[in-house]
Amino acid sequence: MHDIFIDGAWGPGTGGEFDVTDPATGAVIASVSHGTPAEATLAVDAAERALVEWRRVAPRERAELLRRTYELMIRDRDELAALIASENGKSLSDATGEVTYSADFFRWFAEEAVRTGGDYGPSPAGGTRTLVTHHPVGVAALVTPWNFPAAMAARKIAPALAAGCTVVLKPASETPLTALALGRLLVEAGLPAGVVNIVPSRSASSIVGTWMTDPRVRKISFTGSTEIGQVLLRQAADRVLNASMELGGNAPFIVTEDADLEAAVAGAMIAKFRGGGQACTAANRFYVHADVADEFTERLGAAVEKLRVGPATDGCDIGPLINARAVTDTEALLAGALAAGARITHQAPAPEGDGFWFAPTVLRDVSADAEIVRTEIFGPVAPIVTWTTDAEVVAAANDTEMGLAAYVYAGDLQRALRIGESLEAGMVGINRGLVSDPSAPFGGMKQSGVGREGARIGLEEFTETQYLSVAWADA
Ligand code: NAP
Repeated sequence: MHDIFIDGAWGPGTGGEFDVTDPATGAVIASVSHGTPAEATLAVDAAERALVEWRRVAPRERAELLRRTYELMIRDRDELAALIASENGKSLSDATGEVTYSADFFRWFAEEAVRTGGDYGPSPAGGTRTLVTHHPVGVAALVTPWNFPAAMAARKIAPALAAGCTVVLKPASETPLTALALGRLLVEAGLPAGVVNIVPSRSASSIVGTWMTDPRVRKISFTGSTEIGQVLLRQAADRVLNASMELGGNAPFIVTEDADLEAAVAGAMIAKFRGGGQACTAANRFYVHADVADEFTERLGAAVEKLRVGPATDGCDIGPLINARAVTDTEALLAGALAAGARITHQAPAPEGDGFWFAPTVLRDVSADAEIVRTEIFGPVAPIVTWTTDAEVVAAANDTEMGLAAYVYAGDLQRALRIGESLEAGMVGINRGLVSDPSAPFGGMKQSGVGREGARIGLEEFTETQYLSVAWADA
């Protein structure tokens, strides 16, 4: 059994255990201690105690812990990738990419940890000096989803520790093993007791609810669905708790008539099918100019038909969906689109039998207001909608409450930038199908979230700004 990690020690919780399954087979691969509110409180006790010292540790020393964690993740890349693939189902190449991406957050924030900075200067009226400094916000509660079990934890733990915060983490119950493995690497890197505490549980609301009402917790950083984000924001309001929210997406993927279609299809394959479409940044709706829609569909379809769907252990390109519900939800969206007149132009065969399989699918004749383009699919279906004017496509792309990622493929860079700047999305890939980069601010507009992760701002999200107004008599 995999234990809970509190105050530098591994131990069983008081709530028994729960199973983790491999979505490719449905088989149980591990059992994990089931944390309860008692462990949630013990974790905050430990984080609160550790904060006293950790916030005073020299930034360089904190940076070196993060740097060592980066190196250990790279050392264990294959092992971690296999673990991610086994509990999440994604292909080994996607899992390996995730480990590299996750490690890079530790490297990036090791570099940022020594640059928290501040400000100092005369007030305009004279007579005072203004001194601005940034303090760690305190104990931070981190809650992460199953679709990137390493990256979402790394993207929160690394900046929190760089800022001088201590953390309590609840990983997704579908994928707790990767977070626990990351905890072991942090210990190997020299993590002091209590600085990171990890409480897996099948009862998310009881763990996170305990943290949301504990006055010692000063920050909630959540990644997951907009629905749960809204619940947490309501709870945060009661305590005016500092909240960062990375929520759902519904990314448009726009292709103009002068785009390089080969590049657009290569980008589409990444933006749509990485992780089986189960990414918050996944291209959800393809808006292809009517003049090139047939050619784009044929090229994309040919690439989709080549996808090998199957277990990561067989070296396949695409794994299963995370669970049975994900399959029925995606099937329902597909059925709704077909009933409304869409047609399947291309599909890759998916295995039958055990496992949560879904055939990668390309759809044409999708109406602009179809449910499948209005809802986050979170599965390997690519609905294609056609358009003719830039104004029309921008209006369609923005006609949603979501605003995380968007993609624009265009031959004319000026036009691509013009369209890109008109999109209500926090991240826009211009002639690129991937926007994730630890050095860039990751996050969404509208109901896709509040705040940003990565970049410099990712560290600032774990700080409080304070200014000292200093009486000053000029000589
Ligand atoms: P989810 O159901 O919202 O779960 C996310 C996390 O919240 C899990 O740890 C979950 O625990 C926990 N949780 C569930 N109910 C809770 C409650 N009532 N109170 C407190 N915590 C609760 O999301 P998901 O299905 O795991 O992930 C998919 C969603 O995440 C998609 O919408 C996707 O777009 C979004 N996402 C966004 C980003 C981004 O950066 N914007 C990145 C990745 C994913 P359990 O696992 O135990 O249920």
